[in-house]
Amino acid sequence: MALLQISEPGKSTLPHEHRNAIGIDLGTTHSLVAAVLSGEAKILQDEKNARLIPSIVHYQKEAILVGNEAAKQLANDPTNTITSAKRLIGKKLSDIQPDTTPLKLVNQDQLIGIKTNQGVKTPIEVSSEILKKLSAIAQNHIQDEICGAVISVPAYFDDAQRQATKDAARLAGLHVLRLINEPTAAALAYGLDKKVEGRFVIYDLGGGTFDISILQLSHGLFEVIATQGDTGLGGDDYDLALFNWLISDLDIKVEDPKIKQALISLSKKIKEDLSQEYKIEINERLSNEILIKKIITQAEFSQLTDNLTQRTLKAIKAALHDANSTIDDIDGIVMVGGSTRMPVIQKAVQDFFKKDLLNDINPDEVVALGAAQQANILAGNTNENLLLLDVTPLSLGIETMGEIVEKIIPRNSTLPIAMAQEFTTYKDGQTAMMIHVVQGEREMVKDCRSLAKFSLKGIPPMVAGAAKIRVTFQVDTDGLLSVTAKELSTNTQASIEVKPSYGLDDEQIRSMLEDSFISANEDLEHRALAEEKMGGRQLLEMLKNALSEDQKLIDKDEIKLIDEAVKGLEMALQGDDRHQIHEKIERLNDVTQNFAQARMDHSIQKALSGKTLKDMEL
Ligand code: ADP
Ligand code: MG
Repeated sequence: MALLQISEPGKSTLPHEHRNAIGIDLGTTHSLVAAVLSGEAKILQDEKNARLIPSIVHYQKEAILVGNEAAKQLANDPTNTITSAKRLIGKKLSDIQPDTTPLKLVNQDQLIGIKTNQGVKTPIEVSSEILKKLSAIAQNHIQDEICGAVISVPAYFDDAQRQATKDAARLAGLHVLRLINEPTAAALAYGLDKKVEGRFVIYDLGGGTFDISILQLSHGLFEVIATQGDTGLGGDDYDLALFNWLISDLDIKVEDPKIKQALISLSKKIKEDLSQEYKIEINERLSNEILIKKIITQAEFSQLTDNLTQRTLKAIKAALHDANSTIDDIDGIVMVGGSTRMPVIQKAVQDFFKKDLLNDINPDEVVALGAAQQANILAGNTNENLLLLDVTPLSLGIETMGEIVEKIIPRNSTLPIAMAQEFTTYKDGQTAMMIHVVQGEREMVKDCRSLAKFSLKGIPPMVAGAAKIRVTFQVDTDGLLSVTAKELSTNTQASIEVKPSYGLDDEQIRSMLEDSFISANEDLEHRALAEEKMGGRQLLEMLKNALSEDQKLIDKDEIKLIDEAVKGLEMALQGDDRHQIHEKIERLNDVTQNFAQARMDHSIQKALSGKTLKDMEL
């Protein structure tokens, strides 16, 4: 989610060693491919000189159309024409609201399948068709071996979504040099990494999504310190607002999907034209019943869509809050995404920050250009050795006794990262341990997302608490997690690579963060109760074992006292009153103090009569 960039001097490559690498912006609405040619990042155009390739794939019986050709089929054959595959990639069917798409979605081994003329296709396959097209465009320009590609993904993409994007690239025959977060790519394109220090906002309003990221640059390090946004807000909503305005004083209902599609396309055109002209006169006959004759100005359009624009400003405020910043801390604002061409957006953002914007690179090309620069560096063509690192969007941890989450890697840790923590067994003689990997900010397992489970077997039987098991979490630069558990006395180990079969979208991440924020107090209370209960149960278990061995060391009255205290604690453990449980634990500790002392004396005597120290530990 956040990024870190380390720039350090390295060896520059000789000219004959130049290797070709490309940068790809695999967008929800449009995709682009770029490369550094003769020292400058350039967008590579297709055979018709198009720079933006619509991210649309159309499946005919025998052929597959991609881009503009596919877009033409959208109105006639929407079920075989796949748009916005990026919204589906790496997700499960249950993550998607089926009524939001004309596609026929099915369950395909836990993942989403899309029924088409050519059978069921996964979003990975669909994306790979787009990537194949981009790769062919690049090959056409470069006419030489391409060693690999840097592909941009939203900063909030999780493991599954990143992995799925890589799989799509592999399917397209592309070697992925690295995935790069979109805001970082944009920052690179503006050369912000060349500055000494600064805090930057990346405002990205695309076709259907809105992302806001705050990057901090210091001492050559470039880190994303906050992200916010809305996966359901983009240029399409501005089109829709115009569409509603267009039909608002028509008497008819627009039910024919073709007419509706035509009206939406008209709305989009008006919107885009309004970025150039102050006033647009509309005079369109869509059918015999529908004649549209209207005039709209930029000011009217601004008013019509003000609620949408305000939503983006709200997200900026939230991001600033997350980054503990005010507008005075911001040194630059980068505008990304085709929709930031709208004057209403430029003005709103400029007024908000009271600063000039960085907007002189084409907003829909800036991400691909930055990715191409990064690809060029990774291919070894420059004297820079740039390392781009991400951070974890949510905390990662494991389940401990009492269904409590122990966080191992906190949220927003810079990647790659490896962190370890030692755990121990709960019961005497325990020889296996279940490692349950979870993701989220909450204290209790049930409120977090379960990522994986595996068990560590072959722990030598020991007293509860004596075994040392080191659990190591490692997340690589692409955000993929592997977990290893190792018993330290025998070096027995088990590990798992976590590739969840579905992902969380940023909405879910946001709502999980929000939940953790709202429930912080309640969570702590829950955790404290669970811990208290566990402590109580452990004490009872230990006492039971001790009594069965050494009851003879104390008299009847004392046993009676202990029994009463045990009953008191057992009763309290049935309920949920943490303070009462605590009180009963204290009471039991009090009345067993003498017994504990007696046992200790007894074991010392045993030791003195030739027993080893090890035996005494009980
Ligand atoms: P994505 O990153 O989601 O693929 P883009 O950055 O390509 O999206 O942005 C696409 C959006 O930009 C569309 O809604 C399109 O209408 C809008 N757009 C493109 N050019 C203009 C313009 N001149 N004025 C207003 N909106 C524009
Ligand atoms: Mg984009």
